[in-house]
Amino acid sequence: AMLYRVDGWGEPYFAVNSNGNVSVRPYGADTLAHQEIDLLKVVKKASDPKNSGGLGLQLPIVVRFPDVLKNRLESLQSCFDFAIQSQGYEAHYQGVYPVKCNQDKFVVDGIVKFGSGFRFGLEAGSKPELLLAMSSLCNGSPEALLVCNGFKDVEYISLALIARKLHLNTVIVLEQEEELDIVINVSKKLGVRPVIGLRAKLRTKHSGHFGSTSGEKGKFGLTTTQILRVVKKLQQYEMLDCLQLLHFHIGSQIPSTSLLADGVGEAAQVYCELVRLGACMRVIDIGGGLGIDYDGSKSQDSDISVGYSLQEYASAVVEAVRTVCDRKGVKHPVMCSESGRAIVSHHSILVFEAVSASSHDSNQISSHELQCFVERLTGEALADYRNFSAAAIRGEYDTCLLHAENLKQRCVDQFKEGSLEIEHLAAADGLCELVSKAIGVSDPIHTYHVNLSIFTSIPDFWGIGQLFPIIPIHRLDEKPSVRGILSDLTCDSDGKIDKFIGGESSLPLHKLEGPYYMGMFLGGAYEEALGGFHNLFGGPSVVRVSQSDGPHSFAVTRAMPGPSCGDVLRVMQHEPELMFQTLKHRVEEFANGDAGSIMALTNGIACSFNNMPYLAAADSCRLTAAVN
Ligand code: PLP
Repeated sequence: AMLYRVDGWGEPYFAVNSNGNVSVRPYGADTLAHQEIDLLKVVKKASDPKNSGGLGLQLPIVVRFPDVLKNRLESLQSCFDFAIQSQGYEAHYQGVYPVKCNQDKFVVDGIVKFGSGFRFGLEAGSKPELLLAMSSLCNGSPEALLVCNGFKDVEYISLALIARKLHLNTVIVLEQEEELDIVINVSKKLGVRPVIGLRAKLRTKHSGHFGSTSGEKGKFGLTTTQILRVVKKLQQYEMLDCLQLLHFHIGSQIPSTSLLADGVGEAAQVYCELVRLGACMRVIDIGGGLGIDYDGSKSQDSDISVGYSLQEYASAVVEAVRTVCDRKGVKHPVMCSESGRAIVSHHSILVFEAVSASSHDSNQISSHELQCFVERLTGEALADYRNFSAAAIRGEYDTCLLHAENLKQRCVDQFKEGSLEIEHLAAADGLCELVSKAIGVSDPIHTYHVNLSIFTSIPDFWGIGQLFPIIPIHRLDEKPSVRGILSDLTCDSDGKIDKFIGGESSLPLHKLEGPYYMGMFLGGAYEEALGGFHNLFGGPSVVRVSQSDGPHSFAVTRAMPGPSCGDVLRVMQHEPELMFQTLKHRVEEFANGDAGSIMALTNGIACSFNNMPYLAAADSCRLTAAVN
C-alpha cells in the first residue's frame, strides 16, 4: 500500500485489507470496519460466468459506488455549512453539479436525490445537458438552481425560459454579450421574467494547466466594459431586477487557497459593484476548480495535486466573500459552487486486466542454438565472438558486452545483405541479452498488455498528460518483483501508460500468475464523458455496487454490459444487421450446403457482433446469441 501511496490519494475511501486486496469504504471516514467492500470480490461477481454465479460481464468494468458519491456531496455541503456557521456568514450554500463531468443518468439522478435535502442543483453547458438537467431536477428540491452556461442560441435560451415556466429555478448565465438580446426578445415572446446571471472574466489567473480558462485573455465571460453595457441595457428595458447572479470560473484544479481567495475576492468586488449599480443580486457562483489530490502529495506546485482540504477550500471561499461584502456593507449572497471533479472523481473505479507481459526470458538461447550460431560465423564476426569469449574468461564484463553488441550489429548487416539466416539473427539477439542479463544491465522494464483502450477510458492521459493512481487491486500483501509500463489494445503507439503518480516512469508490478486485475482510481470526472472510439473500442461495462447487510457484503444493484462490436460500428454509420446479412449470404454461398457448417460460421460471426470489442474470456462466445 505504501508503495502505491494508497493512503495519500485513497483517503478516506480506499485502503488495503488483510487479504492484500483494495477495500472500498463506501461511507468514507464514517465506514465501520465490517462495512468495507473487497473490490476483487466485486470484480469476480461481475465478471465470473453466469453458470458459476457471476454476472458474466466482460472487462474492463467501471465499478460505481453511489454511497461514495453521496458521501462526497454531503462532505462538500457540510464543509460549507461549517465555514458559514463558524464565520457568522449570513446566507447559505447551495451548490450545483456541472453535468459535463459525468452525464451518466444514475450519477446525475443520484446527485439530485442525495442533494435534495440541501437544495443541490445542476449546471448545464449545452442543449442536451439542459434537457437532462431539466428532467432530472423535476425530482429535486424546488429551490435547487439550474445554472445554464455555455454558448447559447435562440433554441437554448427558449428551452431555459421554458424551464422557468415549469418552476425550475433556472438562471441564464450570459457568457457572451449577444446572448442578452436573445434573452430579452424570447422572454418577452414567452411572457416569462428571466433570471439572469453573468459570467465575469476575472483578472486573477492560475498558472496550472487549467488556468488558461481565466485571466483577461481567457476564453469565456464578459469583460468589465461588457458587464457595464449589459447593466445599462437591462436598465433601459427595465429588467435590471432580473440580474441576480454573478458567475466566474478560475479554472479546474485551483492549486492553492491563496489563489482561490484572490479570485473569489475579486469576484466579490464585482458582485458588490453590481449591487451598487442597482441589480437585485442574490447569488455568487464561484464556478468549479475545487481540486483533487491525484497523487496524494498535497502539493500546490503540481497539476495533479492540490494544497488544501475540502474544509480549507470552503473556509477560504466564505472568508473571501464575507470580508469584501462586510467592507462594502453588502448583504451576504447565497453561495454557489459548480464543483464537478471533487464530487464525482472518487465514486467510480475502472478495473481492467493485465493479460500478458513481454518478458525477456522469451529470447533465451539454448547452448545448442549458440553452438550452431558460432559454427556459422566467419571473418570479422568470428573475431568479435573470440574477443567476446576472451573478455568473458578474463571477467571483463563491459568489454564482453561491447564485443557482443559489435557481433550483433555485424549480424544485422549480414542479414540485410541476405547472407545470414533468420535463426542466426535471433541467436545474435539472444547472446546479447544473455550477456546484458548476466552483468545486470538488461532493461528491467516489462511491458504489461492490458485489456483496455486508453483513448476510450483514460482520454486525459493521452490528451493532456493527466495522471491517475493506477494500481493492482489484489496481491498488495506481496512484494512486486518487476517494474512495468502498461500497453493497451489499440494499434497506436500512444496507447500506453508510461508515466505514473510520484514522477515514476514505470509501476511496481507482480509477475503474472493467473488473472491480474488493476484499477484506475479517481477517474469518475471527465474521463467517461470524453472518451472516444479509437480502433472502435467502446466504453467499458458498468456495475453499481452498494454495501448490504452482513459483514463485508455488497449488492450489485445494476449491471450494464459495455457497447458491443455491433453498437460501436453503428456509431460510425455502419449497419450491423445488414453487415450480418451480407456475411451470412457469403457463408451460404461458400459452405456447400453443409447445414452444420453454415450454422457454426454464422453463429461465430453473430457472436462477434454481440460481444464487446475487448479481449474476451475463452468461453464467452455465446453461440445461441444472434444478431436481430
Ligand atoms: N463550471 C465551469 C464553467 C467549468 O468550465 C468547469 C470545468 O472546467 C466546471 C464548472 C467544473 O470544474 P471542476 O471539475 O474543476 O469542479
